[in-house]
Amino acid sequence: YAKQHQLDPKNIYVVSIMPCVAKKGEKERSQMIKDEMKDVDAVLTTRELGKLIKMFGVNFVDLKDEEFDQDMFGEYTGAGVIFGASGGVMEAALRTVVDVLTNQDLDNIEYHSVRGQRGLKEATLQVGDLKVNVAVAHSMTIAKPLLEEIKAGTSKYHFIEIMGCPGGCINGGGQSYVNALIRNSGFDFKGARAKALYDEDRAMPARKSHKNTQIQKLYDEFLEHPNSHVAHELLHTTYHKQKKFK
Ligand code: SF4
Repeated sequence: YAKQHQLDPKNIYVVSIMPCVAKKGEKERSQMIKDEMKDVDAVLTTRELGKLIKMFGVNFVDLKDEEFDQDMFGEYTGAGVIFGASGGVMEAALRTVVDVLTNQDLDNIEYHSVRGQRGLKEATLQVGDLKVNVAVAHSMTIAKPLLEEIKAGTSKYHFIEIMGCPGGCINGGGQSYVNALIRNSGFDFKGARAKALYDEDRAMPARKSHKNTQIQKLYDEFLEHPNSHVAHELLHTTYHKQKKFK
């Protein structure tokens, strides 16, 4: 962005609004800092944003709807919207992978087997000549045996999605609190939040990540192609063992 707009990247201040308190720590990771500049300068959780809106007396409901700024990534697809629910990242990836592997533009793109609130969701999908085994887990307790299987070389899965929070980011640690009365009433607030995302996805004109014209342009003009050297350098990350917190 800085190169294309001939800006000094030091003059760009990036604020991420996130459902997740962990992002405040992640922005400090060495992999997220290049030439002594952080990719993200500040992280606000959605709960903090809500508090700020109230603190400044903004009557949010009466604000006029506006378009997103389009000179960067204003365009988004339904695939991006559903990332917030457990299974959403998997479904978004499948929508693209199946099109690419079968060389088609499929209309049937809802993968209900990876949706819902179950801790572990598994499916076997026929993709062209391939049988693809996928698993979606949320919470570390459920993810651990899947990771042990990978370590032991016995995993049957080709693709696994793991979310830290039960239900995914819709229930992230930075999201607005759900009143104990509502929680105890048995109301499925996670299901309601997930439904809001799937409803929005269904109403979107583009529902597959690879149909996002701004992302296509980004690859054409900057990242070259998926898995290129520059894409790897900027979009992929690595992990190392951390010190234990006491
Ligand atoms: S699932 Fe939870 S821990 Fe993971 S990114 Fe979303 S909010 Fe953060």
